[in-house]
Amino acid sequence: MKNCVLVTGGAGYIGSHTCVALAAAGFEPLILDNYCNASPKVLERLARISGGPAPRAIDGDVRDRALLDRVFAEHSVAAVIHFAGLKAVGDSVADPLSYYDTNVHGSLVLAAAMRAAGVRTLIFSSSATVYGEPDHSPIPESAPTRPANPYGRSKLMVEETLGDLCRSEAGWRIALLRYFNPVGAHESGLIGEHPQGKPNNLMPFVSQVAVGQRTQLTVHGGDYPTPDGTGVRDYVHVMDLAEGHVAALRHALAHEGLLTLNLGTGRGASVLEVVTAFERASGKPVPRTIGPRRPGDVPAYWADPSAARATLGWEARRGLDDMCADSWRWQSANPNGYA
Ligand code: NAD
Ligand code: UDP
Repeated sequence: MKNCVLVTGGAGYIGSHTCVALAAAGFEPLILDNYCNASPKVLERLARISGGPAPRAIDGDVRDRALLDRVFAEHSVAAVIHFAGLKAVGDSVADPLSYYDTNVHGSLVLAAAMRAAGVRTLIFSSSATVYGEPDHSPIPESAPTRPANPYGRSKLMVEETLGDLCRSEAGWRIALLRYFNPVGAHESGLIGEHPQGKPNNLMPFVSQVAVGQRTQLTVHGGDYPTPDGTGVRDYVHVMDLAEGHVAALRHALAHEGLLTLNLGTGRGASVLEVVTAFERASGKPVPRTIGPRRPGDVPAYWADPSAARATLGWEARRGLDDMCADSWRWQSANPNGYA
């Protein structure tokens, strides 16, 4: 199986969409997930999208070295895409040990198992959170890194560890991908994001208001120094992101060394622009009220994605209307996620 790619966290939001893009590009995803934030039902949805069998999947923890050794011994893995991790900023402040254990320790166990197995091609899910509050936007990869919470620090620790590993011995091919704000869903509406409990992020919250599960959106701050006073982010369609992983994988398979890239659109959208686009896409009203600023929020930032375009030939193709239309298709057809 020359094209087998181990996808840790492959049952999750970005991982499942990347499995679709991998299969479309001729790779064979092999999922490893402990389902702490995912449902095994995603596998059957992936089969429906591909029109073939479900991807092979292993129910297990990325921190389990013995399991990883078995996986590498039993499957001919060409590369690893490492999504498995915890991602809620607030939880990381409340429970940093869990975040460092899963995100940092998990990545160390994985890298050590890869080294032992002679698998040295790795794509790592990092985050624009590593930049903290940037001096200006668009943010290039050379901007200073100063994450403001344990989640962001866990991502930066892994980036630095993998950089050191890459410099320590020949043969490693590692891409660190710093995602901006992934939103949207596969155009089939069969897979998408379904956060547990009350969503922290804007797009899932707006979707749940539009579908009638929540009464209104609280806009966190209307007095920022932005054109309409609300926070600005670089929202990137999850399928664009998924295709970015395939491009990074192809590049890494062909080039040794370390690559650090932003994956974003290069365009910022305000909270109110997102809400208006969602109302347009769904035909549903999204009642909102302006509340106080959310502690720790950065007013506005967006990516400089030019390095990804120059290096990978990748750029985001889908706009805010596509992101909202695809989120709505998923949300309205699956109001309770995979349940
Ligand atoms: P997600 O929670 O949907 O996916 C993560 C997956 O990893 C889940 O399926 C979960 O069950 C699995 N997992 C967690 N701990 C595990 C462990 N110890 N062993 C095995 N599996 C485990 O999150 P996502 O949004 O798809 O994010 C994927 C990656 O991208 C994460 O590393 C996240 O930090 C990073 N990221 C996400 C965003 C975002 O806004 N969604 C932004 C930047 C970076
Ligand atoms: N936001 C909001 N109401 C919500 C959730 C988010 O106004 O219920 C705003 C938030 O203040 C920020 C933007 O939406 O300006 C994106 O927030 P999200 O949490 O999705 O991403 P992040 O802040 O982590 O980039």
